Parts: sequence; structure tokens; C-alpha cells
Amino acid sequence: MLNFRNTTIGFLILLAVFAVISIYSVTGYILMVALGIIYLLLLVFGSVFVCSDFYVEAFCSAGTDEKIIALTFDDGPHPEITPRVLDMLLKHEIQAMFFVIGSNITDNQLIMERMVREGHVVGNHSFSHSTLFDLWSNRQMSEDIKKAENIIALATGKRPQWFRPPFGVTNPTVAVATHKMGLKVMGWSIRSLDTSIKNVEKIFNRIKKRWRPGGIILLHDTNERVVDVLEMTIVYAKKQGYKFVRADLL
Ligand SMILES: [Zn+2]
Repeated sequence: MLNFRNTTIGFLILLAVFAVISIYSVTGYILMVALGIIYLLLLVFGSVFVCSDFYVEAFCSAGTDEKIIALTFDDGPHPEITPRVLDMLLKHEIQAMFFVIGSNITDNQLIMERMVREGHVVGNHSFSHSTLFDLWSNRQMSEDIKKAENIIALATGKRPQWFRPPFGVTNPTVAVATHKMGLKVMGWSIRSLDTSIKNVEKIFNRIKKRWRPGGIILLHDTNERVVDVLEMTIVYAKKQGYKFVRADLL
């Protein structure tokens, strides 16, 4: 399997071989440079694609032919958008997962209570959602995740079992932190790009194109568009004969 450990072992073995070759021929140096570039590219690939399982095993979809699909919402709770999303889910009797940012919770305690009351599952999406998250030390990262865990537990009465890394970026530090804290990592298979695409139709078309049994849809309950996109997605699912299942139950 192509993961960080195997790739690094392979890299070191080949590096040693090429180093020996370089004693006798300049080709050895060329091979070492090429190997270094390939290794770096693989590390970046593993970081950016959470579902590559390169650094940490992430649950991104269920291998099934059954017409089931899951909704996940990141970056909330938001004082106006999240209740609208919850209203829509309640109306259609759908349970979802919310990967919340710890620092958003303090002013939105009631929304958190509502999520749990209505059968949704709250996941940990870090406390700060810092853009520097992936550059942090092991201690700093663990403290941030723990801080989010504590505030979620206080607001909902439940300790989150699932973690979704900010921006979906993983690295060896994320792997150590989540392993130490016994957190399962969840990715997605249908990225809506609802935070960057401004047109509701375009967002929905992206979701439709990537639609598969057992898929996990990533939306953000932080922008106005999500409510319309959600409605279109629910209507589409019904037409296709799909049932929404909570991602942790897929
Ligand atoms: Zn996020």
C-alpha cells in the first residue's frame, strides 16, 4: 500500500542504492535528484488528498451498491445558516454529521443541543481551524483538537468520536494526534466546493456528477447557498430512490 511509512522506506532504500551508483557514475546523482522530487510530490499528494490514506486512514465512502448516501456539514455552527439547515433536515427526517469548529460553539450552545436532540452527530473539526494547523507541533495540534473536544462534550454531553482535519489536509502530526486521542478520521467522496463556487446550480451539478452509492457529501453550513443546494440535493436523492444515512452509519 502506498502510505507514508512504505514510501519513506522505499525512498531510503533507493537513495542508498543511487548513492552507491553515484560513486561510480554521475547517473547516480541524477537518479537521487529525480527520486527526491518524486518523494516530495508523493508527500504533497498524501497531504492534500485525505482519502489517499497516505498518512492516516480516513473513511471517505462505503463500498456498497445500496442506494444510500450521507450528508456532512463543516465549519459551523453558524447562528443563522445552521438552524436553516437543521430545519430542512428535520422537515425531511434526515440525520447528518456536523463537523464543528470549537471556537464557534460558545455563542451557539442552543444550536449544538438541537443538533444532538434531532439525531445528528457532531464531529470535531479542530478548535481554531487555523490556516497554520498543519505546520503546528504535535503538542500544539493535540491541544487544539482536545480543546474542541472538551467544548463539544460540554455543549452536547457527548465526546466526538470522529475528526475531520481542517481543509482536509493530513500529515504525520495529524496521524499521531488522532491516533493518540482515539479519533476516527472522516473525509468525503463528494466535495461540493460550496464555499468557493458562487452559483447554486454549479454546486449542485458537481454533487450530481460525483453521486455514487455510499458516498459522503461535503457541504458547509456557513454560506447562504447551502440551503438551496441542500434542498436540490434532497429532491434529487428522492427522485433517484436514494436514502440518506448518517455518515458514521454508512
Ligand atoms: Zn473546514
